[in-house]
Amino acid sequence: MFSTRCTHCRQLINLKTEEVRAAVAESEAKHEKIYVMHCPKCRKLVKLQVKQLKLKIPAEVAATPEPAPAPETAPDESAPQ
Ligand SMILES: [Zn+2]
Repeated sequence: MFSTRCTHCRQLINLKTEEVRAAVAESEAKHEKIYVMHCPKCRKLVKLQVKQLKLKIPAEVAATPEPAPAPETAPDESAPQ
């Protein structure tokens, strides 16, 4: 799940994991670093960083489940630049 807000009307936008995956795949196919979608409320264009979207795709293809004693700090919505 990826959550962001519309930069125009502040509408909260949630993308399911499969939608995020599709967005990343589409962007990579076009060699775009920015994924552009329409806000469901105001219909204006909302630009999303593909890099940020990728972070939200669970690494479920990780073959070797190794014990992780120190969980990494997951950057949440307020990730510093
Ligand atoms: Zn909007």
